[in-house]
Amino acid sequence: MSAPHNGRCNCGAVTATVSGEPLWVRQCWCRQCQKSAAGSATTNALFMTDAIAMDGELSWFCYTAASGNTIEQGFCGKCGTAIMGRNSSRPKACVLRVGFLEESDRLAPTSAIWIEDAPEWAVIDPRLEQFPRQPPVPPKS
Ligand SMILES: [Zn+2]
Ligand SMILES: [Zn+2]
Repeated sequence: MSAPHNGRCNCGAVTATVSGEPLWVRQCWCRQCQKSAAGSATTNALFMTDAIAMDGELSWFCYTAASGNTIEQGFCGKCGTAIMGRNSSRPKACVLRVGFLEESDRLAPTSAIWIEDAPEWAVIDPRLEQFPRQPPVPPKS
């Protein structure tokens, strides 16, 4: 109903149009996310990759998570805006950072993960479903 979602980094070198709605929106307080989000959580909307039309060049930072999965963080190499994340356990979907999307009002998170890594001053909305670490993966369909 509210798609498409439009994304734009701070400098405009990377833009995106997303034709679908997210499967979920969640905050992540893991340490890697705190670094890319300048101290707070990242807020991530999971979309099917084929719903995303990306324009412009991303830079990538890749690492192996505690789970053994490969995580790839995509960002604008010119202005540093965090744009997207890929996880090798979800080959057909990826997350867009909600800050990259223009109408973030429409993309409220419903859960917060890795809260055991959040700083003590973090304010986590008690209405969110909260997970100390990674939530259990739903069975593959
Ligand atoms: Zn940029
Ligand atoms: Zn994270």
